[in-house]
Amino acid sequence: MTVQDTTVDSRADDLRHALGDRIILAADPGYDAARMPWNLAADQRPYAVARPVTAEDVVDVVRAAAAAGLRIAPQSTGHAASALAETDLSDTVLVVLAGLRGVTVDPVGRTARVLGGSVWNDVIAATAPYGLTALHGSAGNVSVAGYALRGGVSFYARAHGLAVGAVREVQLVTADGALLRASADEHPDLFWALRGGSGAFGIVVSLVIDLLPYADVFAGFMIWDASHAAEVTRAWAQWTKTVPNSVTTTLRVLHIPPLPELPPFLSGRSVVTVDGAILETDAEAAALLGPLRALQPEVDMFARIPAAGLLEVHMDPPDPTPAASAHSVLAELPDEAVDAFLAVAGDQGLFVAELRHLGGELTRRPHNAGAVGSLQGEYLLHTIAMVMDPAAVIATRQLVHGHLRALDQWRADALALTFVDGGVNDYSPGYGEALEGLRVIKHQYDPTGVFASGLPI
Ligand SMILES: Cc1cc2nc3c(=O)[nH]c(=O)nc-3n(C[C@H](O)[C@H](O)[C@H](O)COP(=O)(O)OP(=O)(O)OC[C@H]3O[C@@H](n4cnc5c(N)ncnc54)[C@H](O)[C@@H]3O)c2cc1C
Repeated sequence: MTVQDTTVDSRADDLRHALGDRIILAADPGYDAARMPWNLAADQRPYAVARPVTAEDVVDVVRAAAAAGLRIAPQSTGHAASALAETDLSDTVLVVLAGLRGVTVDPVGRTARVLGGSVWNDVIAATAPYGLTALHGSAGNVSVAGYALRGGVSFYARAHGLAVGAVREVQLVTADGALLRASADEHPDLFWALRGGSGAFGIVVSLVIDLLPYADVFAGFMIWDASHAAEVTRAWAQWTKTVPNSVTTTLRVLHIPPLPELPPFLSGRSVVTVDGAILETDAEAAALLGPLRALQPEVDMFARIPAAGLLEVHMDPPDPTPAASAHSVLAELPDEAVDAFLAVAGDQGLFVAELRHLGGELTRRPHNAGAVGSLQGEYLLHTIAMVMDPAAVIATRQLVHGHLRALDQWRADALALTFVDGGVNDYSPGYGEALEGLRVIKHQYDPTGVFASGLPI
């Protein structure tokens, strides 16, 4: 046995001794299932996996891993696993928070306390009975911690800004195994850093977030055949330059594979869609939608719906999916940029070519914001391709990133950190001027770099 083997064995023994069956080592039968993230294209191979179900479990795991000289990577669902999987995880304990879920609503204070691994479906199920909702994203199975602490762009975003602005308090376990509360009053420096720096500073065991007073919302989607993509995209681009901040929508060209679980009118087709939310009365929303309805969509589901229904309008995949995606933030979308987008969107190798309308309150940094407080840009360009063969991960990543270049000349010096999905060498534009401050606070709370992240500080 080599010296290195002895070291590895002793670390495994130390973990087993401290955590018993709460740690899953590479040789254990459950290892492959435990390391599997939501994005099945991310082949993450950590030293060990822990699945804590209480805050005390998290403290035990952090102390045991740090004592064994191992690093720690928090993960809730693995929607953003690609960036993490690109890092060397051979000395890292992956801490999967999927078992630490629960939501308590304070309907009077209009806040929710959310356990560290909770997903947006959990939150909205708890808040809807009170006529409240939150700044969730398009998918209900994304975690609150992973989304909100990296920014979070919702269908309420142009009216209410980034979701990170709604975070009031974070309870976390830091590198020394301490359970801390970070808020405007307690550890304010750490609270500033967490709002953008996310899992690079510790394992979040709960958060308190502000809620929105919407029981229902005017929202939905429209679908056209992709043969109308040019006409619809040009009209949508013009329309977005006229709508108020109460309107947040997305335009997508989708090349949908033939799948038996899909309705026949979608399976195997290429379509163009517009979806989103309009925070206006029915009459005002209908008037705003006029120019899009004049294009005679074959499906038009825009209507007043319970606010919880907003989690369905983007029709994100409910189950784990192998995908590669890339994004850039655009400062503007002139006619030439629309033409370039249409050329990209015509590639049948893509599953989705998407433009999300940004701007509005997203560009305004709120008073007392954290490290990331705003997103400077008018549109988000997003390309997604399915990874049908594990051997094709790199080629698929090159495909989705390559397509962004066609719109490079309209690019803003910004990144939306929630949309970083591997293959990004420089994500500093996502932090902007906050990066230096984040590094100082990282050194203070995690001097030996115990916490690993797909977006290291
Ligand atoms: C189908 C789909 C739809 C999406 N829609 C949107 C959208 O509308 N708007 C938007 O802004 N983004 C969207 N995203 C991106 C998504 O918000 C990010 O991928 C987000 O980071 C996922 O968080 P997660 O915790 O679910 O994923 P994970 O991969 O589990 O976590 C991502 C990172 O967050 C940190 N983290 C997660 N949980 C914890 C914790 N408890 N403690 C400490 N750190 C933690 C870790 O650093 C981790 O690496 C979408 C992604 C997908 C795949």
